[in-house]
Amino acid sequence: MNRGVKRILVTGGAGFLGSHLCDRLIARGHEVLCVDNFFTGSKNNISHLLGNPRFEFLRHDVTFPLFVEIDEIYNLACPASPIQYRVNPVQTTKTSVHGAINMLGLARRVGAKILQASTSEVYGDPEIHPQREDYWGRVNTTGPRACYDEGKRCAETLFFDYHRERSVKIKIARIFNTYGPRMDPGDGRVVSNFIMQALTGQPITIYGDGEQTRSFCYVDDLIEGLIRLMASPDDFTGPVNIGNPGEFTILELAETILELTRSKSQLVRKPLPTDDPRQRRPDIELARTELGWQPTVMLREGLRHTIAYFDDFLGSQNSGLIF
Ligand code: NAD
Ligand code: UDP
Repeated sequence: MNRGVKRILVTGGAGFLGSHLCDRLIARGHEVLCVDNFFTGSKNNISHLLGNPRFEFLRHDVTFPLFVEIDEIYNLACPASPIQYRVNPVQTTKTSVHGAINMLGLARRVGAKILQASTSEVYGDPEIHPQREDYWGRVNTTGPRACYDEGKRCAETLFFDYHRERSVKIKIARIFNTYGPRMDPGDGRVVSNFIMQALTGQPITIYGDGEQTRSFCYVDDLIEGLIRLMASPDDFTGPVNIGNPGEFTILELAETILELTRSKSQLVRKPLPTDDPRQRRPDIELARTELGWQPTVMLREGLRHTIAYFDDFLGSQNSGLIF
């Protein structure tokens, strides 16, 4: 093995973020073992890597133990879209909790460093704005989003207990809404929904009054943040917010997408889902100081790349896009 070349396990590697992470790690010369059960991921996301001698794929469910030799683990396996994680809420919690136990056990056995893809959802519907890492959050433990939010919160607890009691080297990234090419067009998230609706001339579905906010991070920035976190000194565990502090209402997002696609789609109102957070914006001071990280891709630029991807996906002949 060359110095500096690591054997890296990416769970959830066939998903949106995981596949970009695999790309970036391979490009840096590492050996990547991608583990996924295709619950929400797709073979298409990794098909370009299958012939690469430094890439290996294993179909496996992380709720079962895994025995492999690796140096680092990025634990991304978990459905991330509200529609998808509610398809099987018990499996969602199991994936976060049993998945964390299994991956932490693996990390301990082989002495690997492990990074958890946590989420801004640990803050629930927050009373503190913007959200800092020392805010404990406001999650409804019995609501329809709890399978995801509480699963991720419990995973953070497990990471810290394995760190304190069993000396496992841990890193926790709290990821805010991320978008970009390879999002699943049918995953029901706001960026994929609005772009697909705009490109196909369908009504743009605004849930509630559309005044709720989110902060959208482009995928390349996010992946850079995860890699910097993994490379940070061992005594920096996080949790650390990784997200773009630019905050937009859902109506502003819809208007921007309509403008960039030159779509004539109309806005339609739909009921606000239960426990939908009112506002979301990361305080990224910790990432700036500890990782030297901040996002570089502004919303319009990121949306242009994402629209181009979805347009390709649709095989559309639409030549009126502004790129
Ligand atoms: P995704 O659904 O595209 O990817 C998740 C991947 O995990 C999929 O390939 C899926 O098949 C796989 N998976 C699910 N359950 C599994 C299991 N039991 N065993 C093995 N594989 C399993 O979602 P994503 O957007 O790429 O999110 C990746 C990670 O980042 C998730 O852990 C998610 O919670 C976290 N995250 C994402 C966002 C975002 O905006 N994309 C925000 C916060 C946190
Ligand atoms: N949303 C919307 N229309 C859609 C999909 C989502 O108005 O077609 C809203 C949703 O209610 C939420 C925001 O957009 O307020 C972000 O939703 P998403 O599911 O992308 O992420 P999350 O709620 O997990 O942040």
